[in-house]
Amino acid sequence: MFIESFKVESPNVKYTENEIHSVYNYETTELVHENRNGTYQWIVKPRTVKYEFKTDTNVPKLGVMLVGWGGNNGSTLTGGVIANREGISWATKDKIQQANYFGSLTQASAIRVGSFNGEEIYAPFKSLLPMVNPDDIVFGGWDISDMNLADGMARAKVFDIDLQKQLRPYMESMVPLPGIYDPDFIAANQGDRANNVIKGTKKEQVQQIVKDIREFKEANKVEKVVVLWTANTERYSNVIVGLNDTMENLLASLDRNESEISPSTLFALACILENIPFINGSPQNTFVPGLIDLAIKRNSLIGGDDFKSGQTKMKSVLVDFLVGAGIKPTSIVSYNHLGNNDGMNLSAPQTFRSKEISKSNVVDDMVNSNAILYEPGEHPDHVVVIKYVPYVGDSKRAMDEYVSEIFMGGKNTIVLHNTCEDSLLAAPIILDLVLLAELSTRIQLKADGEGKFHSFHPVATILSYLTKAPLVPPGTPVVNALSKQRAMLENILRACVGLAPENNMILEYK
Ligand code: NAD
Repeated sequence: MFIESFKVESPNVKYTENEIHSVYNYETTELVHENRNGTYQWIVKPRTVKYEFKTDTNVPKLGVMLVGWGGNNGSTLTGGVIANREGISWATKDKIQQANYFGSLTQASAIRVGSFNGEEIYAPFKSLLPMVNPDDIVFGGWDISDMNLADGMARAKVFDIDLQKQLRPYMESMVPLPGIYDPDFIAANQGDRANNVIKGTKKEQVQQIVKDIREFKEANKVEKVVVLWTANTERYSNVIVGLNDTMENLLASLDRNESEISPSTLFALACILENIPFINGSPQNTFVPGLIDLAIKRNSLIGGDDFKSGQTKMKSVLVDFLVGAGIKPTSIVSYNHLGNNDGMNLSAPQTFRSKEISKSNVVDDMVNSNAILYEPGEHPDHVVVIKYVPYVGDSKRAMDEYVSEIFMGGKNTIVLHNTCEDSLLAAPIILDLVLLAELSTRIQLKADGEGKFHSFHPVATILSYLTKAPLVPPGTPVVNALSKQRAMLENILRACVGLAPENNMILEYK
C-alpha cells in the first residue's frame, strides 16, 4: 500500500513551528587491534552514540543557476520542469504522454515506512522531510553560447517535437548570461559556440559571477540559490604546490591571473565566497585542494563529481552484486558512443582523460571489501572507451562486458547494452542534487558531548548516490556501491525524523 505522507510520534521527536528536532541513537562499532594473551586480535565493540538533529522546516523559494544552461542537460531539465509545472501532455507515436519526474530519487522513488495488517506500507521519498517542490524552482544560469533555451532545446534533439512546440513560448525568453570561456580547458571543437563570454582578468570574471548571482537573487526574489556545473567537461588542472594547493595560494594565484585556474574552479570560487552551494556535474578536478580548503574554512557546501547517470550506475550495482555474491569480476570493459556536443567535446584526448579517470575508480571499494576473492593490490582489468558518433545524437549507447571467475575455475560473462537519451537520465539527477543540497543546508546535528549544533561537513558526501566519483573530505572513505549510497542518504533523512535505519529484518514476521 502507498501512503502520501506520515508524521512520526515519539518521545524522541518534537515538531515545532519552524523545525523538527530528533534524538537519535546511532548504533556503530569501535574496533581495536590488541595483544590478548600473546596474540593480536581484532576486538569489535558495539557502541551507541546519541545524536540530535534539527531540521529547519521552512522551505525556501529556490533559484537554480546552471553553468552550461543552454546545453543538452540544461535545456532538458528546464523544459522538463516547465512541462511538469504547467501540466503539459504531448502526443508521441505511442500515446498521449504526461510530464513526469521519472528517474528522480526524491520525486519518483519510495521508502518503506513499516507494515500494517500484514502489508508493506510505502511513502514517497520526498515525504521524509520538507523539500522544495521542483515545480517552484526558478532557473537561470550561464553559457558561452548565447542561444536561448528554446533554440537550445531544439539543438539538443532530446524532446519529442510536439512537446518542443508547447515548451517554446516559455523558453524563448530565457537567455543564458555570458560564461567564462578558456579554450585551453575544453576541446578546440567548442570554439564556434563561444559567442557569449565574460571578458577581463580571472579576478574580474569571479567578481562578475558574484554580481550575476546577486542580481538573479534580487530579480527573482529567491531566498536561496544553488549553482551546478553542467557545462563541458574540462581537462584536469595541474595541481601545483604554491599555485592551487592551499586556500591562500589559490587566492594569491587569482590575484596574479594564473592561467592554470580553470573556468569551473572560478565559478566554484565565486560561489564559495558568496556561501552558495556549488555542485560539479562533470568529471574534471574543479575542486583543487586549495578550493576544498576554502570551502571548508568558509563552511560552504561543495559536492561532486560527475553525474552518475548510466553506465557507471549499472557498474556500481553489478559489481557490488557480484563481489557481494562471492563472485570475482576479473575484466570489465565499457564501450560508449554518443553523438551530442558532450561526445564531441570528449573526443579530445585531454577532456576524455577526465572522464576516464572519473569512471575508473568506481569498483575500488567493492574490490577492496573482499580479500577472499582478491589478493592485496589485485584489481580487475578495467577499460573505458568513448567514441563520438554524430548520428546517434543524445541517444548514448553503452556496452559493457563483465567477465568473472566463478566456482571451480569457471568463467561467467555478462554483456549489457544500454540505449537511451543521456540528458533524460541526467536531468532528474541534477534535480535531486540541487534539492538535496538545499535540504542538507537546513539540517544541523550534534553528537553526544559536542557543545553545539553544526551543519554537515561542507564537502557533501550525502550527495554521493548521484555522483560518479564522489568528492569526500580528506581522509574519508569513498563509497561507490549504489545501494550503500542510497541507504546512507535515506537513513540520515530518517534519523532527522527519529526513524530507525531501514534494516530489512522484518522480525515481526519471523
Ligand atoms: P552540452 O555540451 O550539451 O552542454 C554543455 C554546455 O556548456 C554547452 O551549451 C556549452 O556551450 C556550455 N559551456 C561550455 N563551457 C562553458 C563555460 N565555461 N561556462 C558556461 N558554459 C559553458 O553537454 P551536456 O550533454 O549537457 O553535458 C554537460 C556535462 O555533463 C558534460 O560535462 C558531461 O560530461 C556531463 N555529464 C553528463 C551526463 C549525462 O548523462 N548526460 C552524465 C555525467 C556527466
